[in-house]
Amino acid sequence: MRTIGILTSGGDAPGMNAAIRSVVRTAASLNIEVVGITRGYAGLIQGDFRRLNTSSVSDIIHRGGTILLTARSEEFRTKAGRAIALENLYREGIEGLVVVGGDGSLSGAVHLAKKGMPVIGIPGTIDNDIAGTDYTIGFDTAVNTALNAISSIRDTATSHERIFIIEVMGRHSGQIALASGIAGGAESILVPEYPVDYDRVVERLENARRLGKLHSIIVIAEGAGSAMDVNKEISKRTKLESRVTILGHIQRGGPPTAFDVILASRMGAMAVKLLASGVTNRMVGLVDNKLVDLEIESVLKEKKQINPDLYRLADVLAL
Ligand code: ATP
Repeated sequence: MRTIGILTSGGDAPGMNAAIRSVVRTAASLNIEVVGITRGYAGLIQGDFRRLNTSSVSDIIHRGGTILLTARSEEFRTKAGRAIALENLYREGIEGLVVVGGDGSLSGAVHLAKKGMPVIGIPGTIDNDIAGTDYTIGFDTAVNTALNAISSIRDTATSHERIFIIEVMGRHSGQIALASGIAGGAESILVPEYPVDYDRVVERLENARRLGKLHSIIVIAEGAGSAMDVNKEISKRTKLESRVTILGHIQRGGPPTAFDVILASRMGAMAVKLLASGVTNRMVGLVDNKLVDLEIESVLKEKKQINPDLYRLADVLAL
């Protein structure tokens, strides 16, 4: 294999740059050239390509976002759009492709693989909602960003003796809420995977007050409902004063944690080695701290569950 392509697609995630760097430098060590594709599948259809060498990826390891930019492409969802994408890949002499992105991006990769383009997927999304890997690139950074915010809010919650409801990202997944809620000592953690039990939330708040605790933190994943609704429910049911903070996009940005940089570096290197050895249609994953590769379609068929032990632990530790 002489030339491979790389693109980042879907939502950006801290650590994507470290993955790009690892792909480029691992490929260089194997005398393989790398073409960077700008704006994910949209750039693939537009033929927005540039050669990347080892110095093109200098000084990016610590940067959030992605130097290749990312986008969502409706055209790539069509057969005609994908045919143009494939044609562009062949015209550029690209013999294998690394796709870094979430489940949508990986679904797109399967289409290309089925048409004969060797493809390896790298799970890159802050949501950690992809089966077959314990962690996706960007999740650890997002959790730490949320944790920093929770810690700051806790200071003011303590000083004003208030309840704070903090909404974190996760439309379909409570992974960020659960991890940042446990690490931030939240009294209640509300996730889309389990129904919201307001009786339990209120009981906890009132118990905490009885025990002399003057502040409380509730962490809710956006997919579990709205923080505003939780706020309304608390004021309806109690005399306690609560405030809402929605963390939003700060969770996507910022420099990646050491964990994410190392994960991205390992996954990038593995993706290149798989392509170079003729493997295709696989996603790189991390299971029990070991790199694995799994068929992309079987990974996508599975729904990643949140760890029930961790969920129960959160409940026990909260009070
Ligand atoms: P995140 O989890 O961060 O949102 P994602 O990769 O899941 O990332 P999507 O918007 O779902 O983000 O997908 C990114 C792009 O992948 C889409 O804009 C589209 O071009 C392509 N894509 C998604 N699903 C499919 C599909 N079923 N078939 C072909 N292409 C797809």
